[in-house]
Amino acid sequence: MKQSAPKPPEPPPASFDSLGLSEVMMKALESAGYEYPTPVQAGVIPRALAGVDVLGQARTGTGKTASFVIPILEGLQLKSDIHHPQALVMVPTRELAVQVRDEAIKLAAGRKVHCVAVYGGKPIREQIDKLKRGAQIVIGTPGRVLDHLARGTIDFSKLKFVVLDEADRMLDIGFRPDIERILRRCPDDRQTLLLSATVPPAIAKLAERYMRTPETLNFSPADISVDTIEQFYFTVDPQRKFELLLRLLVRERPKQGIIFCRTKRGTEKVFLRLQKKSKDPRIVAAIHGDMNQSARDRVMSAFRAGKIRFLVATDVIGRGIDVSSISHIINYDIPAFCDDYVHRVGRTGRMGREGVAYTFVAPDEGYELTRIEERINRLLKRDEIKDFDPHARERSGLPIGDRPVNLGPKGSDGAAGSGDPAATPPPPPTSLQRRPPKRYRKAL
Ligand code: AMP
Repeated sequence: MKQSAPKPPEPPPASFDSLGLSEVMMKALESAGYEYPTPVQAGVIPRALAGVDVLGQARTGTGKTASFVIPILEGLQLKSDIHHPQALVMVPTRELAVQVRDEAIKLAAGRKVHCVAVYGGKPIREQIDKLKRGAQIVIGTPGRVLDHLARGTIDFSKLKFVVLDEADRMLDIGFRPDIERILRRCPDDRQTLLLSATVPPAIAKLAERYMRTPETLNFSPADISVDTIEQFYFTVDPQRKFELLLRLLVRERPKQGIIFCRTKRGTEKVFLRLQKKSKDPRIVAAIHGDMNQSARDRVMSAFRAGKIRFLVATDVIGRGIDVSSISHIINYDIPAFCDDYVHRVGRTGRMGREGVAYTFVAPDEGYELTRIEERINRLLKRDEIKDFDPHARERSGLPIGDRPVNLGPKGSDGAAGSGDPAATPPPPPTSLQRRPPKRYRKAL
């Protein structure tokens, strides 16, 4: 099928009222505390309610989940004789499955709707039982959905909606064959909604093959890293990264932050060292793909509840996870892909809040930094910590040593700066001053 020409998103209406939603929906929105639709919601909801297939280009943190959950809820047939799923939402990760399910449950307030998340790492039996009891909305990772299809424990004959959430990520992970297998098992007269941060040719092809004349709505800002996020980099030798991390945390006293590492091993290492250093080890946790699902769920809910302040993570949670109080992102390791940078940094500054991101750059990683700057079309500002020498060879600054440090938020546990090694005389200028890439130099 042919795709229609991209349409500019419609300007947001003054309120949810103008979207023609049901009373029960309006009440659910009110109890969720959603006063105004976000631009993505204002654009997608009316088109989806009109029955059109929509390809929405939107990042996480823009309210995209509700943009497909609301039309699904409004379109469900809540007859007691329909037990089979009417909506299937495919997502790339287990965490996102849980998050979308929770958002759907929240917005389904006042209706008898069952939402079930199906994903790997959890016993399939429990999910089978839940599906048997009847679920109108199923949210799942493609592998587990296929597993249920193969066992005959899920029936898509009554499916009215299919959503591909974070479609670009699903293709990156290699879910394409699974997704296609699933889509071929879905009724032809379904409505398909596809949400993706980017629309590379593979996504366009998928849309062309499995959607009915989709309308493309683009909500991605020209500058993909949102304006409210301040972005800095430090040049540092790899051996000095941990010391830099401690000093940065002491200087910044973040409300909540994620420290991104490239590998699972690296994540564990940084986590253990940080935990050892912290006066209150309970505020530090790690999350990565080697942890079992219930451990990951536990960490995520403690982080969401604000009990954990520092999450050391791999890119497994780099995308899709929404915790609005994250104030700081620290890229302990520069991400391998520019897109991962955008997704990591996008964890902060959610829903227009302020956020700050720091990236540690080893002397031989200047090229990676330049690529990121080109991708986001913006220069990262250089930062440095007082009295901290980023070189491994001579440790001129005061080492933090074995003392536990106060990593509490500003104003907590005595004066900010107690035991603050940053409160020492200014440093000699570092020789790692990096010249901006050529194409920006002209503009400076
Ligand atoms: P999402 O992009 O779907 O991950 O949503 C990001 C966050 O925004 C989630 O915590 C939602 O609960 C919240 N949210 C979604 N829509 C609205 C809205 N209209 N008003 C306020 N918050 C919203």
